[in-house]
This record gives sequence, C-alpha cells and structure tokens, in this order.
Amino acid sequence: MTRRIWNFSAGPAVLPESVLEEARENLLSLGTTGIGICEHSHRGKPFMAVAAEGEALCRELAGIPDDYAVLFLQGGASLQFSMVPMNFLTPERTADYLVTGMWSEKALKEAKLFGKVHSACSSKDQNFSYIPEGAAYSDSPVYVHFTSNNTIFGTQFRSEPVGIPNDAFLVCDASSDIFSRPIDIRKYGLIYAGAQKNLGPSGVTLVIVRKDLVEAGSKSPATMLQYRTHAENESMYNTPPTFGIYLMMLVFRWIRQHGGLQGMETRNQAKAKVLYDYLEQSSLFRATARSDSRSLMNVTFVTGDEERDNAFVKKAEAAGFSGLKGHRSVGGMRASIYNAFPPAGVEALVQFLKDFEAAV
Ligand SMILES: *Cc1c(COP(=O)(O)O)cnc(C)c1O
Repeated sequence: MTRRIWNFSAGPAVLPESVLEEARENLLSLGTTGIGICEHSHRGKPFMAVAAEGEALCRELAGIPDDYAVLFLQGGASLQFSMVPMNFLTPERTADYLVTGMWSEKALKEAKLFGKVHSACSSKDQNFSYIPEGAAYSDSPVYVHFTSNNTIFGTQFRSEPVGIPNDAFLVCDASSDIFSRPIDIRKYGLIYAGAQKNLGPSGVTLVIVRKDLVEAGSKSPATMLQYRTHAENESMYNTPPTFGIYLMMLVFRWIRQHGGLQGMETRNQAKAKVLYDYLEQSSLFRATARSDSRSLMNVTFVTGDEERDNAFVKKAEAAGFSGLKGHRSVGGMRASIYNAFPPAGVEALVQFLKDFEAAV
C-alpha cells in the first residue's frame, strides 16, 4: 500500500484507518453476503441492518431523545441552508442568524429567499476572528441559527448561545464539530452536518430534528425538500447515500470504542492544546483566532508574512504534511484536526514548525 501522509484537509477529511480497512473488505462483500456494500439494495435486509445500526449508534452516542428524528439526507450542509427556511420560515416571519463566518453568511442569504432575516450579531468587523459575546435578537424569531464551529476562521462556540427568545428554536450548522464533544440535544430544534469533516465521506448529511417541528413544517416545498418526507420514510423515500451511511455507521462504532463523545472531547482538547501551546510561545507563528474563541477542530495561524507562509506550506507539503494552506479569506495556514486526526500527526506538525522556526 502507498504510504499514508498527514492529512490536515478541512474536508473531506481524514477518516480512522481501521474504518477504511473494514470498508475496503466490505466493498467486495458486505459480511458474508457475497455482495459489496455499494451493490446492495437499500431495501434489502443487509443494508437495512446497516442503516438501523447507524441510527441506533447515533442516538446512543449523542443521547438523542425519542421525540427527535435522525435523518440521513443528501445535498450537503449547503442544502440545509435552504431546507431550514423552506420548511420553517414564512414571508411575514423573521429568522435570526448569528453571523460568525462565511458559512453563516451563506445560510442567512438563503433564508432571505423565504422570509425576513435578522443578523443578531456579527464578527465581520474583525474578519470573523472571534465569537461575539451576546446577540440582539429580533422580537419573535421563528428560529435562531448559528454555526457552532467556523471551519474557515478557526473559531468555535464554547457552548450554545443563551437568551434566545421564548418560542424560537435553535438551529445549528454543526458540520465541522459534530460529535467532537458531548452535546445536549434538548437545547436544539434542529442540528445539521455534512458528514465529510467529522463523520464520514461527502454525500451524506446528518439531520437531527424535533419531530413536532417536522410535523408543523410547511407543505409547499417540493416533496424531496420537506423534512416530513424523509422522517416518514426513515430516510428511504428515495435511494439514500448507502455507502455514506455505511461509513458513518463504522465511524460511530469507532467513536464508541474511543470513549464516545466524552472520549472525543478529551482527545480533541489534548490535540489542540499541543498546537496552541506551541503557537503561544512561538516568535514566528501566531494563531489568528482570539484566544477565547479558538476552535479545537481548525487551527488557523500565520507568520504575518505571506511569502513566508507560502514557503512554509510548500516545505510542509514536501515533508508529508498535506492540506495546511489556509482559506483565501484568512490566508496563512490552517490545520484541521477533526476527531479522526491522529495525535501523533499533531506532534509531528509541532516538531516541523519548531524546526522551521529554528531555521529562519
Ligand atoms: C463544510 C461546511 C459547509 C458546507 O458543507 P457542504 O456539505 O459542502 O455543503 C457548511 N457549513 C460548515 C460549517 C462547513 O464546515
């Protein structure tokens, strides 16, 4: 097999090696069925068992109550930017958005197509390098939407926004930190996440949504765009992304083997600490996110000199550290160290940063 390198990609991102090895076996034959995982009917017993285990593990890991539906959808997190307002927002009502990065801006833009929107806070004044302390909500929003981890800017909410108006429900784009720490589902009306950062391959989107909201949702969107269609048919109204669901199920098993969400949080805190501790004392590199807002998932940093940043990324690439170039809107570097990213890779990166700094 070709040597695997340290993959710091922001997404699709690194997956646990044991998961990939198991998937490799099952590509040819799922268990003893003689039919590969991608070749099984989604209505057949073997795949139905995979989907059922996936949902059961998801519920167990996050402690999802029975009055919430777990859906495996397509269209990425980006389709959720539209589906949320399509199902819940009406022209005369308002939805509030906490604007903490490019993804929240995109989500807000879609909501404008269906009703009124209110930006309850924004950190755009400082290029989204921090999470605002409070928010000024509108009078009676249908929902309050926030992005728990800002993948591009390397910031993350420490906990859910507080003080949201009564009757409004909380909607969260958790694409880049879902299941990276324990979560209190009861605080949310709806949580969505594209799988390709923390949960599996691209092509499947996890949606956790309160059933009463699903029932009350609008009936005007196209059938495929109503949550009720997928909730009523257990995500099998049409052919679901079977391979994605399978891989996600394996990742859920892996998370459980590694201490569940509490285990993930401990592991993620330890990994991020190694990197931030180094950046704190470095005289060459510095983190771009404000210290109280730093993400455990995406660590963004710069030297302050664009040419030197580029030289670093190039040298790192040659040494087997892939995907470290920062998003163009921040520049510099970004190390994405999601759940599956190995602690040894972070240690190796810090050593490489030290060596680079010493050689300057
Ligand atoms: C990656 C990402 C998205 C976009 O996800 P797609 O699945 O490509 O649509 C949205 N929100 C956040 C926070 C992300 O990290």
